[in-house]
Amino acid sequence: MFSSLWHLINPRLCPMCGRVLYMDEDEICGFCVSKLPLTEHALRRDNSVELTFADENKFVRGGAFCYYRHGEPFTEAVHAMKYGSRPEVGLALGRIAGHKWKDSGFFDDMDMIIPLPLHRKRLHDRGYNQSEWIARGLCETIGLPIVTDCLIRTVNNAQQAFMSHEERRQLSQIFEVHNESAIRGKHILLVDDVMTTGSTLRRAIHALHPIRRCTVSVFVLARAVNKKYAADLKDEILHDDRVGFWV
Ligand SMILES: [Zn+2]
Repeated sequence: MFSSLWHLINPRLCPMCGRVLYMDEDEICGFCVSKLPLTEHALRRDNSVELTFADENKFVRGGAFCYYRHGEPFTEAVHAMKYGSRPEVGLALGRIAGHKWKDSGFFDDMDMIIPLPLHRKRLHDRGYNQSEWIARGLCETIGLPIVTDCLIRTVNNAQQAFMSHEERRQLSQIFEVHNESAIRGKHILLVDDVMTTGSTLRRAIHALHPIRRCTVSVFVLARAVNKKYAADLKDEILHDDRVGFWV
């Protein structure tokens, strides 16, 4: 009763189309869920995420759930999740991804999820780590434990912004591994929200390199697509999705 009244006074809106959500809709309306710009990455080993990290030791597999193209409604959902104090949108998208990918084999043999950590200052300012909410949504279906105390981000993006290009290039370590024994010998799924060049994820993979018998896979919610080529990527079956990405 209280919940119904609350929703009447403060209706939840779909971040993609702006429509008021029905009580049984999970943060994104049914129409927009049916229009999500899905990739085929769960089934394609030659997808652009996997190819980005294929040369890394200990890397197993990777994929993105959706394409992120500037100007499309899906970007509004990502913005609401990251900057609009609506982490529940990440949870909902993680649930959808887990449901759609659970039988694909993508999650086979994985032991745990590590959401890509934020620097503690960023976490304090935002109040939540959106990648952790995506991971929670995934886990409702795939059931892996989420580990947040083993990979720690030691450098803030804001700090990097004040550095020269050369300083940034030299800054190879922005993550540290703590509690190493908990991840030794494990197959870890790194979960991130949006991937453009993949440089941050690569640094996370590098941080895990020294851990004995540890292997790494990558799941990203959204893969940013270069605007110039976006129109060519409507049908991934016909177009090689390596074309047009920032890699
Ligand atoms: Zn909608």
